[in-house]
Amino acid sequence: MVQSQWPYWLPLRSDLRNISPYGAPQITGVVALNTNENPFPLPQEVVAAMSERLGQVVEGLNRYPDRDATALRGKLAHYITQTTGVEVTTENIWAANGSNEILQTLFLACGGVENLALGFTPSYSVHPLIAQITKTPWFAGSRDGDFAIDIPKARKLIREKSPHLVFVATPNNPSGTPTSIGDLKELAEVTGSVGGLLIVDEAYAEFSAEPSATTLLADFPHVVIVRTMSKAFAFAGARTGYLVAKPAVVNAALITRLPYHLSALTQAAAETALEFTPAMQSEIDLLILERNRVEAALAGVGFRVVPSSANFLLFSGFKGESSAIWQEFLDRGILIRDVGLRGFLRVTIGSPAENDQFIAALSSIASSPSDITE
Ligand SMILES: *Cc1c(COP(=O)(O)O)cnc(C)c1O
Repeated sequence: MVQSQWPYWLPLRSDLRNISPYGAPQITGVVALNTNENPFPLPQEVVAAMSERLGQVVEGLNRYPDRDATALRGKLAHYITQTTGVEVTTENIWAANGSNEILQTLFLACGGVENLALGFTPSYSVHPLIAQITKTPWFAGSRDGDFAIDIPKARKLIREKSPHLVFVATPNNPSGTPTSIGDLKELAEVTGSVGGLLIVDEAYAEFSAEPSATTLLADFPHVVIVRTMSKAFAFAGARTGYLVAKPAVVNAALITRLPYHLSALTQAAAETALEFTPAMQSEIDLLILERNRVEAALAGVGFRVVPSSANFLLFSGFKGESSAIWQEFLDRGILIRDVGLRGFLRVTIGSPAENDQFIAALSSIASSPSDITE
């Protein structure tokens, strides 16, 4: 919506008048490979257990939920301890409605007009978006041609700008490329030296072999790891994200969270999902195998594929505009993502059947008379 479309009587902030709401198209009746969800529905045993648990919770919905989501945070702490080898407790965890809400809570606590936030683009567009909404100045650092962060350059930049918040998504979205733990350590060092927080967005960590940035917490108290149950955990619809950090960061989040922000239903559902972690994550290995298969298919038609440690692939090497190729896929019933990066498109790894459909569309587009490949 552009400025002229806002009614005269609406006192909308002037700095928000020209921005459009975040959102990938939600189109029904197509193969949706555009938002990096896990394509597999919840296993039946989880559906049964969760339905029973939610049935019990419903009776008590006249009461507010546990404001501090203590039981859920305990289960998340256990999960992080088990999967990253770093022992954490409830005091190290904060949970919210998706990791986007976690990011907003952090911006509200440590951002604002006087505090600079810095990221390395192209990366997750929601980081600068929430910066804008919370009136936090944003500095966009860059990545090199392989979408890696040039560490000496980044160190220099952080020393120059002294940001309060530094964002690194790893594996990065939209490129799928990881930042090594050694590089993160260097970024943690320099961010600490200027008094900032290093926020490591690990939305896709479960797909990656790199150690988690939780391993930096012992030496670097100003590191915050942001996680989500939306991707590998196959739980996007329930909206559950969390952070792992020193208790002081959690206490800061308590100041800026809304009272009773996480419903009793969400807490109960997420607790149940965590009780069934192996079942909820049983398809990760298959998704990685499928990622390799889709990557080979893309390379097979002459496209270039960015090596990915996540559940999606960024590809290039087509002649036309990204938007035109995106439309070609949609015309064949496949919804992928135009991430606004010239000459690139991103595809989420789906179920084997969905990937077959993507590959069929790909072959048809690559061999079509419009000759879109180089
Ligand atoms: C998907 C995604 C998130 C947001 O996930 P939620 O559903 O809000 O938990 C956060 N960071 C990155 C990098 C993502 O790709």
